[in-house]
Amino acid sequence: MVDKTFTYDFCAFVILSFLLIAAFFRRMNKGRTNRYYILTICFCILASFFDIMAVCLDNIALPENYFYQAAAHTGYLFTHNMTVVFFLMFIIAQTDTFHLFGQKHVELYFAISPAIGYAIILAINLYTGMIFKIENGIYQRGDFMIALYIIAGIFGIVCVIYPILYRKLFTTARLFSLLSTFPLMLVAVIVQYFYPHIRIELFAVTVSLLYISTFIQRPEAIIDFNTGIYKFNAYAHDMKRSFSNKKPIDVILINIANFFQIQDILSYDAANEMLKLVANRIKTIVKQSKTDADIYYLDKGRFRVVMNYGNHEKTEYTAETINAALKPKLPLNGMDITLISYVCIVKCPSEIDDFNTMIEFGKELSSNIGFTGTVLHAGELLDKNKYDLMGELDKIITDAIRENKFEVYYQPIYSLRDKRYLSAEALIRLYNDKYGFISPELFIPKTEQTGEIIKIGRFVFEEVCRFIGSPEFKELGLEYIEVNLSVVQCMQGGLAGDLITLMKKYGVRPENINLEITESANAQTQNIIAENMKTLLDAGFTFSLDDFGTGYSNMQRMASLPLKIVKLDKTFAEFESNPRLMIVLQNIVKMLKDMNMEIVVEGVETRELVERFGMLDCEFIQGFYYSRPLPKKDFIEFIRSHVNDSPEDIMSVIQK
Ligand code: C2E
Ligand code: MG
Ligand code: MG
Repeated sequence: MVDKTFTYDFCAFVILSFLLIAAFFRRMNKGRTNRYYILTICFCILASFFDIMAVCLDNIALPENYFYQAAAHTGYLFTHNMTVVFFLMFIIAQTDTFHLFGQKHVELYFAISPAIGYAIILAINLYTGMIFKIENGIYQRGDFMIALYIIAGIFGIVCVIYPILYRKLFTTARLFSLLSTFPLMLVAVIVQYFYPHIRIELFAVTVSLLYISTFIQRPEAIIDFNTGIYKFNAYAHDMKRSFSNKKPIDVILINIANFFQIQDILSYDAANEMLKLVANRIKTIVKQSKTDADIYYLDKGRFRVVMNYGNHEKTEYTAETINAALKPKLPLNGMDITLISYVCIVKCPSEIDDFNTMIEFGKELSSNIGFTGTVLHAGELLDKNKYDLMGELDKIITDAIRENKFEVYYQPIYSLRDKRYLSAEALIRLYNDKYGFISPELFIPKTEQTGEIIKIGRFVFEEVCRFIGSPEFKELGLEYIEVNLSVVQCMQGGLAGDLITLMKKYGVRPENINLEITESANAQTQNIIAENMKTLLDAGFTFSLDDFGTGYSNMQRMASLPLKIVKLDKTFAEFESNPRLMIVLQNIVKMLKDMNMEIVVEGVETRELVERFGMLDCEFIQGFYYSRPLPKKDFIEFIRSHVNDSPEDIMSVIQK
């Protein structure tokens, strides 16, 4: 008889031991997939240990070693077959679909039932020799050994089919990595079946586990090393998977609203220290709650706790405890820092059932809702329609671009001095069958993120040129049309050239177009923006500064820009209620006048306000008082009807 060799088993033993140690150093000891990955490794280590023992005893072949020899073979068969069971559980955990089996303790049944089955079969074998027998120190396979192979084979086939069924939960690379381990294992099983002295099966499993540890279970890719908890990409992956499987979960959102202030005032390190302290408090509470929950740190002071299988009572209690735990001051850099932490519970999928909405809702939580210090509930805060829209917005925009669904409206701008409409602002409109008109304030920022604003901006500019170049425009007596430029457009090197070419194509003179920029347009990538502005100014365009007075108005920057017009933001229309702010407004107007700038007041809705701004010597008024933005046809009609019959002469009323 050929001597058996344990070289492969020995190598497997050594590699697996390293993998096990590395798993703990790489913080892979938490979470369901890690649990089954580690159990697979442990059972594989045990199997290789038993096999080394069995091989040695088989080679010695002494009858008095019967007890040890039988124990080694039984141990090997048990642990080896259980390895396949845990590997299957690892795969199911990858798809996070245990809940689909309905049972509460499904994972326990999954592991215990085969374990009992194998234990009974191997115990009976000791009396019947149906799997293997040992006579006079010689090991022989029994008639039913093939049955163990068939059972393991069935588990193996399920391991292949399962990820294929749930392939939409995997990226192609991940699915391929997972499935590519099976041919290797199959070859090893066949070789060992026909050549039992070559103990290669466990080595093949080891190589597969090594492969998985390198390409699939990569904690470096999903764990935030500062806080030691999962990071954004893990959250995105897990949440998308839960939504796709319709798994009931509760998510506790925790936003530290003053994260950036802490980072600015203290330091980057202190902010990291703060995150670590918060993460530790959350970890302790989640641990004490004894629920199946995962904790994530996304970024910018935003934590998420996902409570699997959504036991609402426990979620409520955990959220309250986290909220209370974040209230005491944190000692940082020798100071006591108070956190402004928003804690909010979202029940999924009943309240939110898609990932984009989840992200949008989480982002807006601390910016849109006043701080109360109590635990919030998404059910009470959600404007479902809006978040449904946010979730679909990407697709709506892409479809609208493809199907040319954007339209340009015009809002007249009235000159109090000339007592007629002198200009208008072009404003983009997007109509959707399901949601009606979608506000540019929602979709413009989205298109700025994706870069689609460049196409949209070009479309608006071309439409305006086409309008100005048309004979109708000339009849209206308008001097120019204002076109909004997004900061993203201004950052494009080719913007100026592009606009000049379009203008020439429609025979439009540059005086007919005034370009609106916002202050932020000047804040980033100054050089390209300045260059674009210079080329456009040289070509004869003029500029206005939009939304002046909002956010962080920077006087120095405003004064240094080559502006013709400054547009006072809508919020100035509320100044009348506060006498001190009225003084600010009066002085701003004076300052702008002294700099020879024209002033357009936006958002004027009442006659009273027109009078007030008129008294302040603001010449141009834009607002619903005169007209809402109108489709081109209606706009032309509106202006035509007012060419001779100008609206009530408010200036003369004022002067009286
Ligand atoms: P904006 O450039 O400051 O435009 C003025 C906004 O104020 C318009 O909102 C207009 O409908 C609104 N408005 C005018 N009069 C009144 C009023 O009396 N009361 C109130 N409450 N609102 C008034 P709209 O059309 O929703 O546009 C919002 C913003 O979206 C614009 O603010 C602009 O920043 C951006 N936007 C619109 N069209 C374009 C475009 O073609 N390109 C770019 N880049 N941005 C655009
Ligand atoms: Mg504007
Ligand atoms: Mg504005």
